[in-house]
Amino acid sequence: MTIGVLALQGDVREHSEVLASLGEVCRPVRTPDDLPGLRGMVLPGGESTTLSMLLESSGLFDPLAGALRGGLAVLGTCAGMILLATRVVDGRPDQRHFGLIDLTVRRNGYGRQEASFECPIAVASLGDPPVPAVFIRAPLVEEAGPGVEVLATLPSGPRVGGEDHRRRGGGDGTPVLCRQGRVLVAAFHPELTTDRRVHRLFVEMTKTEA
Ligand code: GLN
Repeated sequence: MTIGVLALQGDVREHSEVLASLGEVCRPVRTPDDLPGLRGMVLPGGESTTLSMLLESSGLFDPLAGALRGGLAVLGTCAGMILLATRVVDGRPDQRHFGLIDLTVRRNGYGRQEASFECPIAVASLGDPPVPAVFIRAPLVEEAGPGVEVLATLPSGPRVGGEDHRRRGGGDGTPVLCRQGRVLVAAFHPELTTDRRVHRLFVEMTKTEA
């Protein structure tokens, strides 16, 4: 069984390489014909407005929404998190999203490019050491519904760059890695570091029954 990586835009290659390094077979997903037979799907980082547009023009949005609602396990990072959230603030009015995890996310909520930053994130369920996390124009989780498991929050420790994010509302305790059923989302980019634990967790999710 294969894991699909949405390959319309964004850091598709990075996700595919991480999954391949874990021994998984990957398939780039560009059209509805690429969906059958998948046991998991990755929505990469990129630009959620562009991804939304391309999902529509490729005819993929509705069939993918159906597959995800049907229980296909999914990992969304950054723009992928935006596509999976139920509520998007500061999106384009015509931007569509799948609404599969009960989160309110604010696009670019930590600030824009200059407010990108890195910091280690403690994830209790993944053990020590903390997971290195890269935030690039990341979505800010403003609200997580009761059904959402918050696996990690933003720490108060050192970070490189992006000091501006506190003024924008992101602060200690802001959720950055969340799960609801078969949906796993990260505001950061686990595919841009050498730590494989977030992808490993996702691969495990794809192996359990819906
Ligand atoms: N800001 C982007 C968006 O709104 C997400 C950035 C990213 O994926 N690195 O989609």
